[in-house]
Amino acid sequence: MQDYSEAAFQACLLPENTETYSLSEARTSSESGDLLDIRYDWNKIPVPSSLKEFEKRWSTRQNPLDYSGVWRFRELFPFAPESQIVTIGEGQTVLQKNDGVAKYAGINAGGLFLQYEGMNPSGSFKDNGMTAASTHARMIGAKITACASTGNTSASLAIYGGVTGLFQVLVFVGSGKIAYGKLSQALDYGALTLQIEGDFDDALKQVRRVCEEAGIYLCNSVNPFRLEGQKSIMYRVLEGLNWEVPDWIVVPGGNLGNSSAFGKAFMELKELGLIDRMPRLAVINAAGASTLTRMYNDEGLRWNNGQPDKQLISEYFRRMDEQDGRAVTLASAIEINRPVNLTKCLRALDACDGVVRDVSDEQILDGKAQVGRHGFGCEPASGASVAGAKLLREQGVIAPSDRVVCILTGHQLKDPNATVAYHSGDKQSLARHAAVEPHFGNAPIAVPNDFSKIMDAIRQYSS
Ligand SMILES: *Cc1c(COP(=O)(O)O)cnc(C)c1O
Repeated sequence: MQDYSEAAFQACLLPENTETYSLSEARTSSESGDLLDIRYDWNKIPVPSSLKEFEKRWSTRQNPLDYSGVWRFRELFPFAPESQIVTIGEGQTVLQKNDGVAKYAGINAGGLFLQYEGMNPSGSFKDNGMTAASTHARMIGAKITACASTGNTSASLAIYGGVTGLFQVLVFVGSGKIAYGKLSQALDYGALTLQIEGDFDDALKQVRRVCEEAGIYLCNSVNPFRLEGQKSIMYRVLEGLNWEVPDWIVVPGGNLGNSSAFGKAFMELKELGLIDRMPRLAVINAAGASTLTRMYNDEGLRWNNGQPDKQLISEYFRRMDEQDGRAVTLASAIEINRPVNLTKCLRALDACDGVVRDVSDEQILDGKAQVGRHGFGCEPASGASVAGAKLLREQGVIAPSDRVVCILTGHQLKDPNATVAYHSGDKQSLARHAAVEPHFGNAPIAVPNDFSKIMDAIRQYSS
């Protein structure tokens, strides 16, 4: 059994704080209260000399670690002894070249790709991270794992508890804030589910306190191990492009764990000499949950060589609290106003010459409908990446000839209510943050139970 975990350690995200912590500690922040980062002494790890070498594992996929779309890249996040790794076959996802969506976004044929993370066991990209967090929980002997969630985090944590039987899973959700597809998963997989009277930001605050008091293992994306697993989404994107770096990665931004992980993945690959250039990163908020957009574009917040303006950040949140500013969007997976990985995302944006935009619920749902029409479909939040690519193309930031990868973060069937409301033109159900006018609706047609009337309808409506 290979074990390079001696070469891994936890560190404060900000370079000014040099304290480090061993992997045996279950921390959620550094001594200074900042985010944690997992670091490696790469000299002690047998990293392949070329990414192509990972292809060898395709022929040994009877080994569950080589089958996993996450762990077959394990030398790039070697924090766990192989005997401790918790895997349920996550990461069998698809990079799909999609000319229909390319046309919609204004990108040349052959230039737009959809990375469909809905193919994961629990139907969202979260499994990439939860396999890693569950592994660390096992390494330190945790018996209960917990998270607050807008839905997919809880579904993912719950499936790892349910399949492996290693942990009891405790889930906190905001009441009335969760899509039924996701809630049903947490219940089905056997998680103890607490519906807090409040929203995600409230639920997170409570679960952090509960975990601290009761010594329960916290799996929200303040957990730095989750982000290590999520780096593998980028390895699979590169693999799908025959190890060529695309021009753009476009991703929806909620708690900003994914964007942070993507930036870290590319920073490390560059440092290891495994890629020759960095892609650009576009993080897309919903207009009703646009903290990153406001701070990055309007207030000029930057990574600033590891010294982000903390006063600007706390002042922003103070004002938000004063006005009781709540996140409001139909894209519930990104309905978050206090993104926990904010500073880590700033590092990713810095490393990847990033841009940030916000898009309306109407743009999000139109983007989602285009994905449904031409691709595998996705849940509302994922539509933000396509809407964002289209917007950046219109603004001339993305060129028509660029190679663009949009991350589809969650499965189409997570939130069927939103899809049916959109296609049926049920504007009342769609109006959360602002009115939505569906541009690509495909409403079901009501017909009497009568053969000739059915034939008439088919003649009338078929194209
Ligand atoms: C969690 C989630 C997001 C947001 O990702 P962050 O890492 O929190 O920014 C977006 N889409 C879906 C479907 C999600 O489940």
